[in-house]
Parts: sequence; structure tokens; C-alpha cells
Amino acid sequence: MIEEIKPSLFRLEVPLPNSPLKFLNSYVIRSSARNLIIDTGLNRKECLDAMQQGLKQLSIDLAKTDFFITHLHADHFGLLSKLVTDTSQVFFNRPETELIEASGWWERMIAYAAKNGFPENELRAAIQSHPGREFGSEWVPEISILQDGDEIIAGSYRFKCVSTPGHSLGHTCLYEPNKKILAAGDHILIDITPNIQCWSDEQNPLQDYLASLDKVNDMEIDLVLPGHRRLIRDHKTRIAELKDHHERRLREVLSLLGDDPRTAYQVASRMTWDLDCASWEEFPKAQKWFATGEAIAHLRYLERKGSILRKDEETTTTFALNELSPVDAKVG
Ligand SMILES: [Zn+2]
Repeated sequence: MIEEIKPSLFRLEVPLPNSPLKFLNSYVIRSSARNLIIDTGLNRKECLDAMQQGLKQLSIDLAKTDFFITHLHADHFGLLSKLVTDTSQVFFNRPETELIEASGWWERMIAYAAKNGFPENELRAAIQSHPGREFGSEWVPEISILQDGDEIIAGSYRFKCVSTPGHSLGHTCLYEPNKKILAAGDHILIDITPNIQCWSDEQNPLQDYLASLDKVNDMEIDLVLPGHRRLIRDHKTRIAELKDHHERRLREVLSLLGDDPRTAYQVASRMTWDLDCASWEEFPKAQKWFATGEAIAHLRYLERKGSILRKDEETTTTFALNELSPVDAKVG
């Protein structure tokens, strides 16, 4: 499905089979000089077919096309290697370029998950069904690194990069100040909440995410072009809802930490999830993985605030309430 949103700016729907996200929105800016494609889809046949068909309908010549990828997740980055040509430029952020270049990060994530209580016998299955493993890019083209404030010009669109870490380490949006359009990747979505996961003690992605929401909230935006689902007109209302969601989540996580210390996996298994499963045991392994990552993100945020205490033992990390922390300072 193709929709012309603004002159020469198209939304191309790329199906994501078996995913609650349903489809990825790839945005195509057609221009007589260079075209620009924002985000691509998973590296799988259904996505490639939809993309090729859509680009053909729009008469897009890939040899005259550059790419901007909002973040490293497979549903945005995965198909890039199938579309890029020798003459394409690929614009991407620095933190995630470094992540690609660093070897062994899957193994580090696995070790981190195990330490946070993810059962050894479920780990490998969870990783095997992880979309990043199954549908990620086979190779990585040469990347032109862009930073906050850098510009990309495509036809009559003059985009500025807006660094919005949180949903991922280097997540970046594109803002067109004259047209007041924000290509938002997975920073702001409607109907679904962007997943915030933490897989390293060096990071505090929920804090980053909330700061990135504030940053975008202050911008003049008439239309948000999200990575999934419907376009968003009122970004401030949606941002308020997203902040509210995380505040409720933080309170829930606090309420789940009683007297006994708990691992992030144990906390995740007791949190409420919007999934069609009768119990935690029935959760697909990959969903348990995402849920645990999300629980860690909220626990880390509370730990950094001083509301809870982390205890690192040789094989396991647990969290408990910090009884010395005043209740009203625990969240927010
Ligand atoms: Zn996505």
C-alpha cells in the first residue's frame, strides 16, 4: 500500500508477518536529483516483495537513492543490504554504528540476561527467535555517520537529525522545520508503546527515553511519521500518554519488589503484559526476552534514582526496595 502524504513524500507499507506491529512504514521522498528512503523492513521475502513493488510503482531508481535508518532494529535496518546500490549513501547514527563494529555483543547480551535471572534452558531459544538474529542484515554497507543537528536534503525537504536515544542507543529522528514534519522511527508510536529495553549496566535507556520525549515535546510539529501504525497529529498528547505509561510501569515495578530481593526476570514474570497468553509460562520465548529487557530498563531507572538497591552476586543480580528512600521521591 502506498500513500502520498505530502508532495513527493510517500508512505510505503511493508508487512511484518507474525508481528503485533503489523507493518513498517517506510517513507520515500522522490526527487529528480536523489531520492531518500527512511527505514526499510525486515530482511525477508515478504518485505522485499512489498518494497520492490512499491518502489516500482513510484518509479524509484535505487541507483539514485540514499537511505536514512532511524535505528538498528531489524524491522528498520534489516532489508537495507538488499536495496542499497554502489551509488547509495547510507545515513546512520554513531552509537549504533559502533555497536555493529563491536564484536560479541550478542554473547554479552546473553550473559547479561542470564545474570538477570533468565533461565539458561530458555536463553538460546529466545535468542534464536529474536528478529535481529533471524531477519537482520547479512552485511553492512558503508555508513555516513550523522549527528544531532546534521542535515539531509531530499528534493524540497531539508531534514535535520534529532538524536532521540531510548528505544535504542542511537535512535535518531528526522525533522523538517519548514514543513513541521517529524519522521519519528519508533520514538513515538500510537496504539502501541515503544519497547524500552536495557541490556547493559552502563546504560539507563528509560531515563534517556524520557529526556528524548521532552526534547521532541518542545518542537513545533504538525505531523509525526511513525515507524509503525497510524500517523500522529498531536504529538504532545501522545507524549504525555507515553510518559504516563512509564510512570505507571515504575509504580508497578516498585509494588512488585517486596521484602525479598528479586531478579529482573522474576519481576518481568509478574508485570502485566498486553499479550494474549494465559500465563507467563505460555509467553513465546522472544516475548519473555523483550519483557525482561523492559523490566531491567525500569529497574535500572529506579536504581539510579535511589529508590531501589541492586545486589550483584557472582551469578545473579537482584533488586530490592531501598527502605531509606522517601516514598514520594521514588518515581518521576
Ligand atoms: Zn520498529
